[in-house]
Amino acid sequence: MALVSAPFTVIDTARGIVPRAFDRAGQGTNDPAIAARLARLQAAAKGRDAEGILRLALEEEFAGHTAVVSSFGAESAVLLHMIAQIDPTTPVIFLNTGKLFGETLRYRDRLQDLLGLTDLRAIGPHPDDRAARDPEGTLWSRDTDACCNFRKVLPLKRALEGFSAQITGRKRFQTNARHEMLPVEYFEGRFRFNPLAEWSLADLEAYIVKHNLPRHPLVEDGYPSIGCMPCTRRVLSGESYRDGRWAGLDKDECGIHTGVDGEGI
Ligand code: SF4
Repeated sequence: MALVSAPFTVIDTARGIVPRAFDRAGQGTNDPAIAARLARLQAAAKGRDAEGILRLALEEEFAGHTAVVSSFGAESAVLLHMIAQIDPTTPVIFLNTGKLFGETLRYRDRLQDLLGLTDLRAIGPHPDDRAARDPEGTLWSRDTDACCNFRKVLPLKRALEGFSAQITGRKRFQTNARHEMLPVEYFEGRFRFNPLAEWSLADLEAYIVKHNLPRHPLVEDGYPSIGCMPCTRRVLSGESYRDGRWAGLDKDECGIHTGVDGEGI
C-alpha cells in the first residue's frame, strides 16, 4: 500500500482559516463540574494505550452510554477490531450520506460480519431535508458545507442524542488542527475519547498486518482517505494523504462536530 506523509492542513488565521470547532479542545467545559470530570478522565487516560483508553470509555462510568461513529473508511478496521475485542455489542453509528462509494457499503458489510458487530446503526439525512435542500442531489457541486451539514452534521447530532460518551478514530497526524488533540475531550454535551490520537500511519499499517484485517478496496486503488464519491479523488504522486478530499477547496473537514470526520466520511 503506497501511503504518503505530511498530511497537514494550513491554518492561517490571517485568511480566516482556523481550526474548525470539531478540533478545538475543551468546548463546553465552562461548567466547573464538567471541567473537573474531564480533568479526572484525562488523568485516568494518561499512560494508557489505545485499548486502555477504549476500556475507560466502554467499561467504567460510561458503560452502556458510549457509541462509536465509524465511516468504514480506509483506517476504520483498526478501531472497530479493537472495540469488537472488548465488546462487540457496542453501538456503531454508520453515516450513509447517500453519496458513498459502493465499495464502502460492501466493506461495511464485510467488517460487520468479520468482527461480529451486533449493533451497527446506519443513519442518513432526513427525507424532508433532502427534499428541501438538495432535491437534485447536486448540492455538493455548489456548496459543500451546506451539503455536509444536512447529510452528515444533522443526522449525527440526532443519532448521538442519548449517549454521554463517544469514541472517535481521529489521529493527530491528520491535520494541523489535531496536533494537540488529547485522548479525552469534552464537546457539545458529551465526552469524546480518541484512543488512536497518537497513532501514526505506520502504527495503523502494522496493526492491520498483525491482525490480518481486510483493507478498504479503494485504498489500493489510490485512495488513502475515503469519503463521499463526489468529493473524493485519488491522490496523485507527491500529494499528501488527504489531498484527495474536497480537492481544490479550503476544506479538510466535513464540519461534523460529532466525531466521524478524519476517519473518512
Ligand atoms: S462530502 Fe461532499 S457529497 Fe458528502 S456530504 Fe459533504 S459535500 Fe456532500
